[in-house]
Amino acid sequence: MRIHLVNPSHISFGTGVITPRWLFVLAASTPREYGDPEIVDETLEPIDPSRIRTGDVVGIGIHTGNALRGYEVGRLARERGASVVYGGIHAGLYPEEALEIGGATAVVKGDGDVIWKTVIEDCIAGRPQKVYEAGRIPAERFQPARWDLLPPDRYMWASVQTVRGCPKHCSFCSVWRTDGQEPRQRASDVILEEIVALRRLGFRFIALADDNFYPVTLTDLKHAERREDKARFHELKELREERFELMARMAKLPSDMVFFTQITMEVAEDPEFLEAMRAANIKGALVGVESVTPEGLKSVYKDFNVAGDELVERLRTIRQAGVHVLGSFIFGLETDRPETFEATATLAQKADLTFAQFVMMTPFPGTLDFKKWEDSLSDDPTRIAGIPLTRHWLIPQHLRPKLYTPHPVLSQDEIKARTQDVWNRFYSFSAIWKRSRCTPTLRSRLAFVLISKLYRQMYANTGIATDSSRIQRATRVASWIAKPCRRLFQTAPMPELMVPSA
Ligand code: SF4
Repeated sequence: MRIHLVNPSHISFGTGVITPRWLFVLAASTPREYGDPEIVDETLEPIDPSRIRTGDVVGIGIHTGNALRGYEVGRLARERGASVVYGGIHAGLYPEEALEIGGATAVVKGDGDVIWKTVIEDCIAGRPQKVYEAGRIPAERFQPARWDLLPPDRYMWASVQTVRGCPKHCSFCSVWRTDGQEPRQRASDVILEEIVALRRLGFRFIALADDNFYPVTLTDLKHAERREDKARFHELKELREERFELMARMAKLPSDMVFFTQITMEVAEDPEFLEAMRAANIKGALVGVESVTPEGLKSVYKDFNVAGDELVERLRTIRQAGVHVLGSFIFGLETDRPETFEATATLAQKADLTFAQFVMMTPFPGTLDFKKWEDSLSDDPTRIAGIPLTRHWLIPQHLRPKLYTPHPVLSQDEIKARTQDVWNRFYSFSAIWKRSRCTPTLRSRLAFVLISKLYRQMYANTGIATDSSRIQRATRVASWIAKPCRRLFQTAPMPELMVPSA
């Protein structure tokens, strides 16, 4: 009897950018008496079904984007006599879907870290429950990952989580509803132990795979301080102090380490936090800009962001503090007009962004936008391959539309073409070369070009293209570029490294 953990994907690049952390967390939650689980990340290569035998337990983690492939893998595993267990955001939202069409034996709703052991035991004993309500576990119970099972030569970035949950409530995002709005922060000891374990193995690039690394803003503190009851203020202050303690300890790690995370733009008003990030070698962060217009920001409940010149200023402040910004923008909002694309492309250049991504508005389950959209289509008879639009993730990949919400002014083709054009402009050779000046040597400038091209190839060309031959070509090119890129991330192990003191 073997345990398998599968990260499904319909595209395999041979090389991975960021390690899917959950695979190694559930590996750690697997009792040792069952042996090391077989870990399959299909973003590297597809699963080999012959490895699955009768009586095995197969855990599959799905989000909406890979649910369809996940169900294929689940059915295949069930046919081979295995117990199939689904987890992940999508399975938690639609457990009945995994049971009906994914061949599920059981579905876990919520955090899998603690319950996984019980689920395995129940499957082996032949008495699995259909649905396990795991809920949100406290940070002290988050499981550290089994990094000893990480293949040394497949991924560019390892991933460590420091906090789950996000206090914001953006309408297109499900994180705050699934992981909660109360930040669950891990203690710095366990975080540093994982980071050191990775550096000992030779990983110096580590993504802090958090919902929001900056969960307490100065504005939050100010508002809490004004209240008569100071309990919330003290709670927030403590959370903030813990962040600083973590970053101070990270600053004592080898100086060649590079961290990347996800924050909100409000950090630009917090020079002390930015300085601590710089000292801790957090050299890059994804910042959700979403829209460059105030109307666009309002429409996605993100009016804590700013627009126009103030936006450029804020993004530049983060960059000047030594933190490179990967700006994330959404196109296809109701408020977008033809000139929005031009304005976004110009702003992305002006704001000193090191990387950028331009995604098209998709209503994802679990979000406020999805609920509104689903309700608006309740009488819509449209089906693609027999599937209603409101279950778009079940439509075969090559038939799936790229946009789901009708736009008051722009056609779907126009939004797609203009989005592609913004990607092209931001990642043109001359623009990348100019941006590569942020690195010190010719060698690193060339590396920057290669990585920028890879990023664009993986996220724009496989995401926006609709015909399967274009997607295949883009995947092939990305695989070629990814191999030499990965070598740039490799470094000598430091087996003797110790955890820095508090
Ligand atoms: S988009 Fe970012 S800031 Fe908004 S709720 Fe999601 S994680 Fe939080």
